[in-house]
Amino acid sequence: MGKAKKYETIRELIFWSYANLAMAHTAVERNQEKYGTFNYVIRAKLFKGLKDETMNMRTIFDDEKIKLQTGQICNYCGSNEKLALDHIFAQKMGGKDDAENLIFACRSCNSSKGKKDLMEWMNYREEFLPLMIIRRYLKLVFRYCSENGLLEKMVEEVKEMELPFKVGYIPTKYPKPRELKLNVDLE
Ligand SMILES: [Zn+2]
Repeated sequence: MGKAKKYETIRELIFWSYANLAMAHTAVERNQEKYGTFNYVIRAKLFKGLKDETMNMRTIFDDEKIKLQTGQICNYCGSNEKLALDHIFAQKMGGKDDAENLIFACRSCNSSKGKKDLMEWMNYREEFLPLMIIRRYLKLVFRYCSENGLLEKMVEEVKEMELPFKVGYIPTKYPKPRELKLNVDLE
């Protein structure tokens, strides 16, 4: 990988994270130990395609279907104890009370997350969340930025703003495939 910066605007940052996520996704699906050329090609193609708008992030509806299939378990850890609906974007920070922003979480995850941004919480836990959750999160961020005219703003500028998510925690590097999972383990 070169040292040139991959992103300057928020749009590019979200797409870069999303392209990395897609790369990780294919590697996990194929049970790869580490990333190879094939994966980097996917990332490069998707990143380019997203930027020139020949490709797009799939609709949130896909995730809704997965959520329905997953059933009532904590989407963060897989527990089925003391579940409640958790707001991905915290309500106090302007997170909406709609389906895209709601996810089942156990009381333990819920209280550990508290008012933290989801990616901030992930960073604090020092363990990546299931990729499907990060995908949902990135789509929420994209939608929010799109609706609020932030996509073309520079990352540094947006970092200073009060938003329902924290730009600085959007993952731009993903761990090795064997340290990741697509979804919570069903028990
Ligand atoms: Zn949990």
